[in-house]
Amino acid sequence: PASVEFRHVSMRYGNVTAVDDVSFRIHAGELVTLLGPSGCGKTTTLRMIAGLEIASDGQILIGGKDVTRLSATDRDVSMVFQSYALFPHMNVLENAAYGPTVKGLGKARAEAMALEKLALVGLKGFEKRYPAELSGGQQQRVAVARALVLEPQVLLFDEPLSNLDAKLRRRVRQEIRELQQSLKLTVAYVTHDQEEALAVSDRIIVMSNAKIAQQGSPRELYEAP
Ligand code: ADP
Ligand code: ADP
Repeated sequence: PASVEFRHVSMRYGNVTAVDDVSFRIHAGELVTLLGPSGCGKTTTLRMIAGLEIASDGQILIGGKDVTRLSATDRDVSMVFQSYALFPHMNVLENAAYGPTVKGLGKARAEAMALEKLALVGLKGFEKRYPAELSGGQQQRVAVARALVLEPQVLLFDEPLSNLDAKLRRRVRQEIRELQQSLKLTVAYVTHDQEEALAVSDRIIVMSNAKIAQQGSPRELYEAP
């Protein structure tokens, strides 16, 4: 895993400033949550870490290396999307093997890598199923396995629990946290739910109107002194 650093980063869309002169650091192996109301700039921040948006201003470093101008395919970062974005015509194994297959690693090698990550998320035995034949929680686990398959330096989650019912949400967020701790992953995690942020994070960055309002550990931010 690698650290992530934002130095005075801004993102403008026309005359909308989605992210305004934001600086922060995520240490290697740390899970940091971006918390704040809809429209405050969380997803844009995540997409700039991924290279899905290129910052209008400032510098982004991953593992100490300047990636500000690098596209998503030239960064070692994976993202789990809100809607999972699984390929409906591919089975679980093919979905999880997508990354290494596209990289040209060969079918046997790609499938072996995918099987290892599917086992890690508890999906052994589900390889031949199609996304439509899975529950929401299972689809989410496939998305996590697919994101992990190339062992990225940084893993990103954009509201990963929003399509799950309340009971499953608690379980899946615990699974994400356990996986992150056992693999010592560097994770940036976006949510608008304070309770969720408190449950999963090493540190929380609270965003408001395109800026960082405060940051600290769950204890520092929300426990009475
Ligand atoms: P959040 O994830 O906190 O809900 P976003 O990062 O999605 O916030 O959006 C921050 C602001 O930037 C919002 O005002 C949103 O409408 C605007 N925005 C985000 N993406 C675009 C885009 N592609 N084009 C124009 N405006 C955008
Ligand atoms: P979230 O609520 O998870 O932040 P949104 O529904 O706000 O996601 O945005 C989903 C997608 O639409 C993102 O890719 C974002 O960049 C884009 N988007 C958000 N707001 C706008 C906007 N005002 N104009 C164009 N694209 C936008």
